[in-house]
Amino acid sequence: MRTLDVAIVGAGPFGLSVAAHLRGRRAVRVHGVPLKTWRTCMPADMLLRSDWDHTSLSAPGGAGSLDAWARATGAERREPIPLDLFLRYGRWFEDRFVPDVHEAEVERVEAARDGLVVTTADGGRVLARHVVAAVGVLPFPRVPEPFRRCEDDTRIDYAVGGRELADVQGLRVAVVGGGQNALESAVLAADAGATSVDLVVRSAVRWFRSREPSAQRSAVGGRLYRLAYPIVGFGPPPINRLVLAPDLWSHLPKPLAGRLSRRILRSGGSPWIRERLDDRVRLHEGREVLAVEPTADGVRLRLSDGTVRDVERVVVAAGFRFHLDGMRFLDERLRRSLRAVDGLPVLDRTFRTSEPRLSLVGFAAEHRFGPLSRYVEGTHFTARRVAGALA
Ligand SMILES: Cc1cc2nc3c(=O)[nH]c(=O)nc-3n(C[C@H](O)[C@H](O)[C@H](O)COP(=O)(O)OP(=O)(O)OC[C@H]3O[C@@H](n4cnc5c(N)ncnc54)[C@H](O)[C@@H]3O)c2cc1C
Repeated sequence: MRTLDVAIVGAGPFGLSVAAHLRGRRAVRVHGVPLKTWRTCMPADMLLRSDWDHTSLSAPGGAGSLDAWARATGAERREPIPLDLFLRYGRWFEDRFVPDVHEAEVERVEAARDGLVVTTADGGRVLARHVVAAVGVLPFPRVPEPFRRCEDDTRIDYAVGGRELADVQGLRVAVVGGGQNALESAVLAADAGATSVDLVVRSAVRWFRSREPSAQRSAVGGRLYRLAYPIVGFGPPPINRLVLAPDLWSHLPKPLAGRLSRRILRSGGSPWIRERLDDRVRLHEGREVLAVEPTADGVRLRLSDGTVRDVERVVVAAGFRFHLDGMRFLDERLRRSLRAVDGLPVLDRTFRTSEPRLSLVGFAAEHRFGPLSRYVEGTHFTARRVAGALA
């Protein structure tokens, strides 16, 4: 069995950035299809929410930034950033900084005497002295209680970026949730030719004022906007600046950090969606789904106002919630051995779990380092810290 110094699980922005910082110093291999979340889950014509200066993957000395790519390839700075530009940049980053990528899913990581054994879906096995798990948010959808019993029903999807709506033409669709993702899904379902779209929201939909990074602004307005909303337009200033100080965040009392996090990531919709919801989407505000029942030709949702919606497709967009149990590829014994509080693994300042040969980065570290762990901008702090500890 081949031995690696570091095996990285997940080839998203975080996994690739950690690999770039370890390049040349360690035998490192990244597992997974590079930027798969971005390639397969997001609409092909998507424009990124984060701006050019906050969307670079991390490599030592800033050599892997979007600016460096633009200089090297003659590409022009464009804002908002189209998804295909980001993917071209990602390919360049990978070619330049991440030589060893094994494009297979990791099925299992288990503890052995000399390291952790990593088994991939193609049957490969390596022994790694250290494993860094960088698997993003997708394995951790928040599943509201009534949906828990039907998680395997193929007519119920968990929304990510809209691609799950590609085949809803002619179908009755219900979307559950009230954040940007849910509202976008409802609009996309209507655009895709759904015969009806019901949007079920627990409270009233909260509409943001013009916070979109791409909104037209004067030069001064643009500068003020950047100061006020440093990353992707989330959170009220000035508390959203705390996001940029992950070490400070990690020292906040947990209840306060939780409250701030919920406030900063508070869900709501952008003005452009409001314009497009019009009469194509029936809004059921202040209502909850109490029960979900499979029917002969679809799914029946029983709502808290006593009404029912019979639909052929349901899209649940209730956000993401990390829980160690979602890391199914970690062998159960290993998973159970990790110190955790309420399903959140205890991490030290270098992202190590209580099993010192295992580190968790990205979303899995959000409970310690705050919302920066959700955005590409978080790769700089994370990759430097993890690589520094492993070097
Ligand atoms: C619609 C949408 C728009 C977004 N727009 C922005 C934006 O504009 N700016 C921004 O900063 N952020 C944006 N985000 C957030 C974005 O997802 C994160 O910034 C970024 O992708 C986080 O990187 P990551 O490496 O943690 O996760 P991911 O990009 O999800 O990468 C994790 C990777 O791990 C892989 N993986 C999972 N399990 C395994 C396994 N067992 N074996 C091998 N591989 C595995 C996955 O396939 C995936 O490729 C957006 C998210 C969504 C859903």
